[in-house]
Amino acid sequence: MPERGLDSVPFRVWNEALTIKTMPNINDNFLKLQAGYLFPEIGRRVNAFAESHPEAAKRLIRCGIGDVTEPLPMAAIEAMHRAVDDLSTHERFHGYGPEQGYFWLREAIAKKAYQAHGVHVEVDEIYVSDGAKCDTGNILDIFGPGNRIAVPDPVYPVYVDTNVMAGNTGSSSPDGSYEGLVYLPCTPENNFVPQLPDEHVDLIYLCFPNNPTGAVASRNELLKWVEYARANRAIILYDSAYEAFIQDSSIPRSIFEIPGARDCAIEFRSFSKQGGFTGVRCGYVVIPKELHGYDSEGNKVSISRLWSRRTSTKFNGASYIVQRGAAALFTMEGMAQTAALISHYLGNASLLLNACRQAGMRVWGGENAPYVWVQCPDGLDSWQMFDKMLHEANVVITPGSGFGSRGEGFFRISAFNSRENVDEVCRRIHSLFAR
Ligand code: PLP
Repeated sequence: MPERGLDSVPFRVWNEALTIKTMPNINDNFLKLQAGYLFPEIGRRVNAFAESHPEAAKRLIRCGIGDVTEPLPMAAIEAMHRAVDDLSTHERFHGYGPEQGYFWLREAIAKKAYQAHGVHVEVDEIYVSDGAKCDTGNILDIFGPGNRIAVPDPVYPVYVDTNVMAGNTGSSSPDGSYEGLVYLPCTPENNFVPQLPDEHVDLIYLCFPNNPTGAVASRNELLKWVEYARANRAIILYDSAYEAFIQDSSIPRSIFEIPGARDCAIEFRSFSKQGGFTGVRCGYVVIPKELHGYDSEGNKVSISRLWSRRTSTKFNGASYIVQRGAAALFTMEGMAQTAALISHYLGNASLLLNACRQAGMRVWGGENAPYVWVQCPDGLDSWQMFDKMLHEANVVITPGSGFGSRGEGFFRISAFNSRENVDEVCRRIHSLFAR
């Protein structure tokens, strides 16, 4: 028999025979992800427009992405300056801090963000991090395979993509949805607050005030979700990154305002929008001691124990400087400056909401949230509306279809901008649509 070269041996046979792995396997789930479509496509269209219309491009106003525009509250800036100086002395030097966050920040959060509003959260139930995006993604580390997972549609894309990466879905369909996820439609009929699913689910993502729709949920609506979760032994992953925008005192700012939520919810919060920390990076997770999941044999396991273990293994804490800045937001002056910042953005939202309404469009959000959600006029789809606003008003908005198939036919305008820009956007909406 002629000798066969290695190249002619089928790879599988060769690999098995050697019983040595010859190349690293990647996480195939990543290959299921649709190419980041929304923001790259917005960028592509804006760049193409700027190249072909250089004069008009000078007038462009971007109301697309949800990044803040205004300087940070001075209390945070001064606290961070002092924290930098601390690091220059032996006496006040700080190296690695506690993975869970400094006690003084967690205590400020527990007292000012919760207990002052009559909500029971303890210092050791708070885990400080570098932001809610990481936390809402990383939380999947502690949940096993096989969970039924419910996500609203439209939705903040991070919840979906991190489940794809974790192998909790099948492949995607042409409309962008993934096999295996339970989509909860958010529509004008339900005021963009999802209804309970007809089937059992194990994990439920909820986000109020909502990105992208700006919707808020009433106490009764959240109560239904808490009752569902308790009856189904499900866990609600509650993203309240925009809670600081809630002005109406009847609307819950925290899921833990709802009786029974401590048994069935995790809450994610962020200083990004509250204190303008998008570039500074700080957020936190609240996991009540009562919250349990189940191991593969059906035994109860404390969720905070798992998250604590995960945090101390994979995270070395948010920076000392940043945590000092975050803590300063809870001082008297920090709270007053934060309130002024929020009121600036909410003022913008109100102007945009009214401009769209006066132009005859159907609008939602914008009252307790920095996003205005608008139905495209004249039967336009989301991308047609994007192009119209880009070419005829030189304003960049976000097409609703980028947040899920139920976002088709809508667009989002962000209120994160200067007042001058917002006034100008309102004038352009008026001249383009007012009849
Ligand atoms: N959650 C929602 C719903 C968001 O819209 C965003 C950011 O836009 C985040 C979380 C991310 O927050 P952070 O900046 O703290 O990572």
